[in-house]
Amino acid sequence: MPQNGWVLAVVNQKGGVGKTTTAINLAAGLARAGERTLLIDADPQANATSGLGVDPRRQENDLFTLIQQRLANPQFQLSEELLVDTQRPNLYLLPASIDLAGSDILLASQIAREAILRNLIAPLRARYNWIIIDTPPSLGILTINALTAADGLIVPVQCEYYALEGLSQLLQTVDLVRQHLNPKLEIWKVVLTMYDARTRLAEQVESEVRKFFGTKVAQVVVPRNIRVSESPSFGQPVIEYDPRSRGAQAYQELVEEVRQYATSSAR
Ligand code: ADP
Ligand code: MG
Repeated sequence: MPQNGWVLAVVNQKGGVGKTTTAINLAAGLARAGERTLLIDADPQANATSGLGVDPRRQENDLFTLIQQRLANPQFQLSEELLVDTQRPNLYLLPASIDLAGSDILLASQIAREAILRNLIAPLRARYNWIIIDTPPSLGILTINALTAADGLIVPVQCEYYALEGLSQLLQTVDLVRQHLNPKLEIWKVVLTMYDARTRLAEQVESEVRKFFGTKVAQVVVPRNIRVSESPSFGQPVIEYDPRSRGAQAYQELVEEVRQYATSSAR
């Protein structure tokens, strides 16, 4: 591998906007395109873990355990043997568990607690073309760790009332992280999700978001699609569950837009 890969965090402190769906399909799509990809599940709900068919209750080396090991031994670093092979070419997983809900308390009194994830994954950056981090629906310590570890952000925005509400708080947090922890952090793509073409509302939300974020908004819009909502119960990304569905096709396009962005973006 020529250089360090990219680290992208999928963030929006609202729940149910399509973060996990976007993280899983982006990671699976990049892996399918032949890129070595690691998906990190940093949400105690562990939906990205189960969404790849991995049981979050049976993992020895989940993120919480690894954070604990790092705290116990500052020399401890993540290595490839500790990751879960998802049984898909090029796609690896660092799983979450419900224990991760205790990380606020665990990390409360730690020095440099915002950079634990960044330090933990540092040795892996040269081994993967892409590291994609799924985050919880809050701006708590796990999300701050993801923002600190990332080069770029993918921000899913659901096409519904109040879509933009809360985004200013996210942008403020991103600014603070940039000032204090990670000066190079950049928004890569804002992604419109669950677009329902039958409603005027979706159209209005799209034009509002495009007005606000301009060219940051991905050209592709992810439609509301039943196949997307079915796929997690089969432990599969939709691009694998039903590659011809409209949802899968949209996510494939997003993968290409993200790869394109990487090519055009100077390090
Ligand atoms: P978050 O991680 O932001 O909480 P999820 O990705 O888990 O959001 O999505 C919330 C719910 O909406 C899930 O049940 C998911 O399957 C469903 N969903 C996500 N994207 C779509 C879509 N494009 N069409 C239909 N259902 C979707
Ligand atoms: Mg989620």
